[in-house]
Amino acid sequence: MFSQETQALMEAAVDAIIAIDHRGQMAAVNRAAQHMFGYRDFELVGRNVSMLMPEPDRSAHNGHLRHHLDTGEQGIIGIGREIMAQRKDGSLFPARLSVGRVPDSSPPRFVGLLRDVTAEHEATAALKLERDRANAYLELNDAILMRLDAERCIREINARGSDLLGAPAEVILGRNWLDLTRDENERERGRLMLASALANHASREREFEAVDFAGAPRRIHWRCIALRAPDGAPGGWLVSGADVTDRARREESAALAQDRLTRVARLASMGEMATGVAHELNQPLTAITTYARACERYLAMPEPDFAELKEAVREIGAEGLRAGRIIDRLRQLVRGDEPSELVPIDLTAVVEDLRPLLAADARVFDTRLEIHAGPDLPRVQGDAVQLQQVILNLVRNAFEALEGAGASPGQRVVRLTTSRTAGGEVELEVRDNGPGFPAEMSGRLFHPFATTKKSGTGLGLAMSRTILQSHRGTIGIREAAPNGACVYIRLHSAEERA
Ligand code: ADP
Repeated sequence: MFSQETQALMEAAVDAIIAIDHRGQMAAVNRAAQHMFGYRDFELVGRNVSMLMPEPDRSAHNGHLRHHLDTGEQGIIGIGREIMAQRKDGSLFPARLSVGRVPDSSPPRFVGLLRDVTAEHEATAALKLERDRANAYLELNDAILMRLDAERCIREINARGSDLLGAPAEVILGRNWLDLTRDENERERGRLMLASALANHASREREFEAVDFAGAPRRIHWRCIALRAPDGAPGGWLVSGADVTDRARREESAALAQDRLTRVARLASMGEMATGVAHELNQPLTAITTYARACERYLAMPEPDFAELKEAVREIGAEGLRAGRIIDRLRQLVRGDEPSELVPIDLTAVVEDLRPLLAADARVFDTRLEIHAGPDLPRVQGDAVQLQQVILNLVRNAFEALEGAGASPGQRVVRLTTSRTAGGEVELEVRDNGPGFPAEMSGRLFHPFATTKKSGTGLGLAMSRTILQSHRGTIGIREAAPNGACVYIRLHSAEERA
């Protein structure tokens, strides 16, 4: 019935080939068909092909065939479709069937080709499962995931993404990704990021000031990679975005808090600050007490020395004012205000103003204080109250060092000298003949809270340095021969600065 060539072709085919006549009876089946259905050829040839179909196709098949013969309607012929087929053992499998009519055959004959598509089905199902799982991952991910086309328009977005961007997917799709940036500057950065990912074949990421589709400000960390068509043409981008608005807000308030802390940290914690305040105020208060005692003594005299009394009361008033200014200054320091404007001042006059106070202090510490003012010193840019604080600190330190050293009172000397340096700056030096700086303070003298004194705060030199810094001056120590300590401060002359 078939030529030898046709038979060879049928046997070589991987697909099942079944030839039937106009009644549906099988005229020939190839080896693949026998294998596929589990029958031998003699079990099939001469029988109706409907035996290879499960119900309802089995009962309907003859009807279809007749309908085709009667009407000439093509039906399945030439189209092919997927059907279920039944093996000899009753098991079913999906198969792709295509049917052709043998030309010029009368009565007509047909040839059917069947391919078992079980493996394809399984592969498709596995793929679908894989895709569903991938989609589920994408939805679980707390990120905005989208695909942009080459015009940067959003073509796909995950549900979480549209949630985070404050609009349903149908509103978002088609919108330009750049519309999510806050201003022209950010827009340009966005453009550059995408272009760079495209040009460099690498992922790119940056944080952006953004607005969501509801108009709310957001901060989004975007990452992108460029897609390319098989021919290498730009194919858009895959973009993922993490909403870091909350983190950015937290960082901002942390930075604010840090800022506040830094200010306060200039005097460290509140407790230490209180000690610092006490330290600073101690000086004017000591002076006030000293003058008040002097007043008592004068008043106790049979003939009070009213000139001295008047002078002492005047000093008490001045010291009271100084204490007030110190409190003001400390408040400024904590608030982080800039120091008051620096004005040209005469350092010698500043020292002279301090002389009564220093002298009183020297008496208390039983120490000789020598003040040597250099001739014709230029004025310096400074804040007199702050500089007095520094000088008081340095002199008080010298007194305390001498007291602790156990030297006999007659030998204790503190020398305060002002002079002009070779570089044209004005220098003030406080030198004592005490034990010198303790070895353990090496490198830490100016650190806040570094102290060797039982009731010390370790703030004196630290605050002095802060003050000198705000004066753009310097503070330092130098060797004092043959023994003792020496601290100097240097300030630019007002003329030089002008
Ligand atoms: P405080 O006086 O409260 O200790 P300072 O910052 O003024 O704080 O001084 C820090 C430390 O530097 C002192 O405790 C002391 O050990 C050392 N020091 C400062 N001045 C002298 C000095 N003239 N001679 C020896 N040591 C000094």
